[in-house]
Amino acid sequence: MKDRTLLMIPGPIEFEPDVLQALGAPTTSHVSPDFIDVFGQALERMRKVFQAPSGQPFVLSGSGTLAMDCAGANLIEPGDRALVLSTGVFGDRFEDLLGRYGAEVTVLRFPLGETVDFNQVKSELDRSSYKVVTATHVDTSTAVRVDPQQFGELGRQFGVLTILDGVCSVAGEKLHQEEWGIDVVLTASQKAIGVPPGLALLVVSKPAIEAWRERKAPARSYYADWEKWLPIMEAYEERRPSYFGTPAVNLICALNISLGQILDEGLDERISRHCQLGKASRAAFAALGLGTVPTAAEHSANTLSAPRYPDGVTGADLLPKIRAAGAILAGGLHPAIQSEYFRIGHMGATKAGDLLAAIGAVETGLKQSGYDFELGIGVGAAQRVIAAC
Ligand code: PMP
Repeated sequence: MKDRTLLMIPGPIEFEPDVLQALGAPTTSHVSPDFIDVFGQALERMRKVFQAPSGQPFVLSGSGTLAMDCAGANLIEPGDRALVLSTGVFGDRFEDLLGRYGAEVTVLRFPLGETVDFNQVKSELDRSSYKVVTATHVDTSTAVRVDPQQFGELGRQFGVLTILDGVCSVAGEKLHQEEWGIDVVLTASQKAIGVPPGLALLVVSKPAIEAWRERKAPARSYYADWEKWLPIMEAYEERRPSYFGTPAVNLICALNISLGQILDEGLDERISRHCQLGKASRAAFAALGLGTVPTAAEHSANTLSAPRYPDGVTGADLLPKIRAAGAILAGGLHPAIQSEYFRIGHMGATKAGDLLAAIGAVETGLKQSGYDFELGIGVGAAQRVIAAC
């Protein structure tokens, strides 16, 4: 691939050849025995990847926002109280979204770059009662990571349903959905799960399904209603034909392959590979003298990094230079600091060599933008982390 430029944005990412091949294979009927088996297996594998042996998986055609919408539409009724823990743009999205379904939303917005302060959350849950609490495992606008274990445990302690946005974390960050008591974990195909954009994925706990069954009125979304999709998901797992809306046949075949690869790699191995990539990336940017949006390494994501531009360097100048040097990176996303930082994704199929190449391209770009530093210092720092593992 002589024209290849590394795609290192925080989703969509680069995908494994076997996954891409499934997309180009002849499309089969959504009720053919072969496809039913593939879909059923993908659902079984989702339970393993989310670590939720008794959870109910859902696969819908759509992006991560549909997965968020699906959780909101099914769990919220007008007047329900919802607590949103926000560490960035995607946390804020829940405020708007749950409000659409009639929730009375309270937002705890944490200072930019900081993670959730669970003492504050506990005080709020002590003070008033909520039906639902949401958190964003990794907010892609800030690269801040939230501790999902404390989140799930607090939800359980207070009898509140927990919804975790895992769009930028599932299959890249440590997650034990069931053991930690998280009711809904949702994600999208195009990130660490490793499949091109187009699938909204959720795994829902038994208590959340029971809460949904106790609704006074049907969900206010026709397409996202679990009433429509639950029998379909059950049928595929029981290897029976069924139909509500045509599933994204090729994407689901690709999903099954990617989930198989994730399980073959081993969840623990995969999570430590992501830890290593996150650590190597942070070491590179520290060596280059660049600050990061997250205020501490302990709550920095391992799936992406968010370095700040050095003084005198702008994204408009730097990012095209990095691209010309071989890596496509993303600009800032959080409106308060959008022009002050950029983002580099390192999840899914990303190898240590890809990260080193991307950091090399960043160095080339920075040098060409007039930033004064010793060439190779960032690559070297990352390489030392990689070599030590
Ligand atoms: N949540 C998070 C944490 C995300 O990173 C994204 C996408 N970047 C979304 C939700 C929304 O997903 P999508 O763009 O696939 O609708």
